[in-house]
Amino acid sequence: MSARASVIPVFVPHWGCPHDCVFCNQRRISGQREPATAETVQEAMRQAAALPSGAKRQLAFYGGSFTAIPVEQQEALLGAAQPWLASGELSSLRLSTRPDAVDMAVLERLRRYGVRTIELGAQSMDDRVLALAGRGHTAADVERAARLVKDEGFELILQMMTGLPGDTEEGALATADRLLALRPDGVRLYPTVIVRDTALCELWKAGRYTEHTVEDAVRVCAMLLPRFEAAGVPVIRLGLNPTEELSGGAAVGGAYHPALGELVKSRVLRNKAEALLDGIAPDSRVTLGVNPRELSQMIGQHRSNLDWLKARFALAEINVRSSPVNHGGICRIFLEK
Ligand code: SF4
Repeated sequence: MSARASVIPVFVPHWGCPHDCVFCNQRRISGQREPATAETVQEAMRQAAALPSGAKRQLAFYGGSFTAIPVEQQEALLGAAQPWLASGELSSLRLSTRPDAVDMAVLERLRRYGVRTIELGAQSMDDRVLALAGRGHTAADVERAARLVKDEGFELILQMMTGLPGDTEEGALATADRLLALRPDGVRLYPTVIVRDTALCELWKAGRYTEHTVEDAVRVCAMLLPRFEAAGVPVIRLGLNPTEELSGGAAVGGAYHPALGELVKSRVLRNKAEALLDGIAPDSRVTLGVNPRELSQMIGQHRSNLDWLKARFALAEINVRSSPVNHGGICRIFLEK
């Protein structure tokens, strides 16, 4: 499916957005000031075509509300991709948009131009959280748009945020369950980052918003990730894509970490190990067996997981070893008092 296709991103920062959501400054998040034009599409495709790729290629319009852009400009961008679709260089198109900018007429246009995947910014399924974030749509809008997208045969990706003003861990789990009920083909999880020049940044500076730290994000996403995976819904992105702009100072607080996904996967394994060791006698010596590809995630950065487990269970010693277990599995292969 195209969640695994190679994606050629083209940014339309903030284009089509009726206003600013409190957390958003797409020009800083994407690191791009000007929206794409038909020429940008051609240039992105020429560069991509020059590189060998065995994978299917999708051209993706990100960073704005694509289907709320004036129709002629949508068609200019979509039209610029048509020769590349016709030649087979591209297999399909992909775009992100707002749930309240999707209806049958919109979907018919997108289908005509070869769009296969539609990403909807859901962010939360709690209307109060959506209102505090200045989203301008409700959870019912997300449900209506998501059903329409699925019913019309498009691939559906839902974007969810954690740590928005007014949200809680229980709220995040409830949002995840309501998103899963919409049977998405994939999910992106974006813990809230405080970006310079946003309303959220001002709220934070005024002491009216409590930062969603990297640790907060790791804890809640380590609960969400197994939930989505157990339902067969891949989490195709975890955390904002690191950019020079964000790393260079535009991310002033919140859950910005260039390797957030790795931290979350590492925490998922720590949580599993914690459950496995429940009830173990103090001073035990333990070796955990994990899939060879997950050794470093189990150990954690600077042995953080092992040190935490050792302290948590007052162990004499804890080690990790490669073992023929499935991805995400752990076996306790050696234990001695
Ligand atoms: S979050 Fe989406 S809809 Fe809101 S301002 Fe940013 S790009 Fe526009």
